[in-house]
Amino acid sequence: MGKIAINIATGSLQQAEMIVGIDLGTTNSLVAIVHPETKKPVCLKEHNANSIVPSVIYFDEFDNITVGEMAHDQLELNPANTIFSAKRLMGKSYNDIKSKAAYYAYKIIDDDTESLVKIQVNNKFYSPIDLSSLILKELKNRAEHILKTPVTKAVITVPAYFNDAQRQATRDAGKLAGLDVLRIINEPTAASLAYGLGIDTTKEKTIAVYDLGGGTFDISILKITNGIFEVLSTNGDTYLGGDDFDKAIVDYWLKANEELQELYYSNQSIAQTLRLQAEAAKKQLSTSNNFSTTINEFQISIDLDTFNELIHPFINKTIDCCKKALKDSDLKISDIETVVLVGGSTRVPAVKKAVHSFFNTEINDSINPDEVVALGAAIQADILAGNNKDFLLLDVTPLSLGLETMGGLMDVLIPRNSKIPNKVSRQYTTQKDGQSSMRISVFQGERDLVKDNRKLAEFNFTGIPGMPAGLPKVEVSFLINADGILTVSAKELRSGIEQSVEVKPQYGLTDAEVEKMLLESITYAKDDMATRALVEAKTEGEQIISVTEKFIQKNTAILNKEEILATANALQALQLSLTMTDKNLIQSKIEELNEITRPFAERAMDAAVSNALSGKSIL
Ligand code: AMP
Repeated sequence: MGKIAINIATGSLQQAEMIVGIDLGTTNSLVAIVHPETKKPVCLKEHNANSIVPSVIYFDEFDNITVGEMAHDQLELNPANTIFSAKRLMGKSYNDIKSKAAYYAYKIIDDDTESLVKIQVNNKFYSPIDLSSLILKELKNRAEHILKTPVTKAVITVPAYFNDAQRQATRDAGKLAGLDVLRIINEPTAASLAYGLGIDTTKEKTIAVYDLGGGTFDISILKITNGIFEVLSTNGDTYLGGDDFDKAIVDYWLKANEELQELYYSNQSIAQTLRLQAEAAKKQLSTSNNFSTTINEFQISIDLDTFNELIHPFINKTIDCCKKALKDSDLKISDIETVVLVGGSTRVPAVKKAVHSFFNTEINDSINPDEVVALGAAIQADILAGNNKDFLLLDVTPLSLGLETMGGLMDVLIPRNSKIPNKVSRQYTTQKDGQSSMRISVFQGERDLVKDNRKLAEFNFTGIPGMPAGLPKVEVSFLINADGILTVSAKELRSGIEQSVEVKPQYGLTDAEVEKMLLESITYAKDDMATRALVEAKTEGEQIISVTEKFIQKNTAILNKEEILATANALQALQLSLTMTDKNLIQSKIEELNEITRPFAERAMDAAVSNALSGKSIL
């Protein structure tokens, strides 16, 4: 397995080059580099500007796109066209986020299935990957403008609890933005790196990373051995953060003043001003004991003791999460040697105090908590560029390894640059009723369609017991050992039957070929993703047609004539859209069919239907 550094812009093999570290956050994102001269990590910013870029995207009526501060200003003015928190949707289905749907002011398609969410703005549909790629593209453009050089390689951070699919989605977003994502690293790992933890490879260390941002809270317990970070446990609350502190202050002011309350509910701009003043109050109370101001002749104020009382329940919640994380890691509080603070809300003195008194150990809070993750990502990038000799690069897979799924798409199980040895498993299902075999085709490469990748092996997995489509659970595992040999095995979980094949992914593959494959994946990223989106839309359309037809046959008795006619028309329109190459058209036809069938599907909730829609099918 090679350790490769290829300049994607020039195609040349390079010793050292600028690789950026990106903190792709839920509310804010940042880019950092290790400065080539000072060798210190710094966040990139334009003169007099902030290093923080709000992770907000605004689409105007002509689908022109703005990302960052200006998009943030549109949040209140144009909620339907302004996307925030896209990161929360990465790798999620509508069912996953259903209970929080009210939180999003823009349109998320309610398809009531397990397939990945889609967001509709104007007449177009976007996946969370598309949206994240727009933010990354903006970060890339800003970085290029500041550095005055092309930026093509990045390390991107993700929460420690992100699963495989969410990590892959983040990689895809990077690729779509024209970035070669060298590595996805955990946010707590990045924060620890920024504090130099793990640099001394002779010492083992156990640390807690407490990350309280604007809208999310994460606690991670990490163990560092020989410079390798292992996540022992994570816990948190994805809807808890500094925004709750602001809301608590607003509520406090409203309670104290009925006239202000009336104004608040009748005047949007007053409501907005009050929220902004609450945030200003919170920030001021991080360094002083009082805050007061006037809004429309109303005198409003809050003192530190009151604020601390208001936020006490939220802080307690975070400490409860810390207790749970410790329990899951099988450690005692005294085992935690040091704590790292991340996120703007850890500036609140009461938060720091609570964390200190709970862990009763050294707290690392000297680095700007908004920047610490990006700075750590830059350090990791610098290590990958080969500039930091204190770190050894581990053996990695130079190209992604995956399987062919419906429509000839590549489903990556082991992403490129993964450490070896490594094992990844994923579940698949059948597409047809009674299907007894499944073709397992193993590919290597970075392109979205397997036809553009390198085929490594193929076998026919047979003996799947006869079941309706979508019911069999076939777990495919990729195990790559320390010698780089890949074993692909498939197991039907109900019957336990298993088959496997062994391959040497690097056999006969030269560095030049690897380089070429990487270059092509960036060159064709946009086309590839568009083709993937179209194939996925078509597959989804075909599945929905088949499920709906079955459903109608079974349930004619409970349907009236109008319903049957409307469904038939919508089915026909969807069928027709499948013969064309417009993914937005297909998605809008799927949505129209769903709108029609939703009421009677609810009437005759049939478990088999939702089952048939879940899981990916191979062939
Ligand atoms: P993050 O998501 O890490 O960017 O954190 C943003 C959160 O930190 C927001 O809720 C901010 O209001 C909060 N924050 C930023 N600066 C301060 C400060 N000086 N004191 C208290 N909270 C702050």
